[in-house]
Amino acid sequence: MILRTLLSLFEDAFFPLRCVLCEKNGELLCASCAASLPRRSSQVCGFCGARETPQGTLCHECHSDNSSLDGIFAATRYDVLHIARLIHLFKYRFLRDLAEPLGHILSEAVLRSELPLPDLLLPVPLHPRRERFRGWNQSLLLAEEMRKHFPEPIAPRVDPHLLNRIRFTAPQMSLRGRIDRAQNIEGAFALSPPPENKNEPEKNAFVDARILGKYVWLIDDVAASGATLRACADVLKKSGAKKVFGVVVAR
Ligand SMILES: [Zn+2]
Ligand SMILES: [Zn+2]
Repeated sequence: MILRTLLSLFEDAFFPLRCVLCEKNGELLCASCAASLPRRSSQVCGFCGARETPQGTLCHECHSDNSSLDGIFAATRYDVLHIARLIHLFKYRFLRDLAEPLGHILSEAVLRSELPLPDLLLPVPLHPRRERFRGWNQSLLLAEEMRKHFPEPIAPRVDPHLLNRIRFTAPQMSLRGRIDRAQNIEGAFALSPPPENKNEPEKNAFVDARILGKYVWLIDDVAASGATLRACADVLKKSGAKKVFGVVVAR
């Protein structure tokens, strides 16, 4: 305990917390910068991103019975000045503590919306190789942070092991076109084998009791074309999920 106190005194003396956006001392993201982030006052279609829709559901033009992803809800509008910087620091500069303010902003927005509450929060998985390199999965940190904002009796389960990334892919942000992004990520995800038959490779061809009838929120930091979320939703819907929504910090 004393060691901890000494350590934190040392940290405060030599590495005072500064806001990553304005450099004011005190917090990693100060209250005024947090308040100035471009919150979305309305949501847009989870496919085309062009038409306004309630909670980011699909618009009339994009809606079809075989669309696996039911919509994308975003807390903020992606912008270069604030959000891009924050997400970059969170993902690539190893500022894992940004999960707390970002998770807070996301929870605040989504819990105020009319999106039906989920049974499961599933972070979009990283390939194990990328996760080893980064040290953590930023989407899992966000999901765990979000769970804290639900009242305990209705808090959904966070399951970081259900969905796996089975193929190493180029970062989506490095690809320009919608088709390139969709091809890059297609087939990149699979369910982990259920605990009762750990040794059998999962084919994702069957309804899975862990998913059947469940309302799922897929948690991620940013959605652009939505291809990653759709690739995850494809697997979940094939396994029997009832509804799958992407819930992201920015779009
Ligand atoms: Zn600030
Ligand atoms: Zn649309």
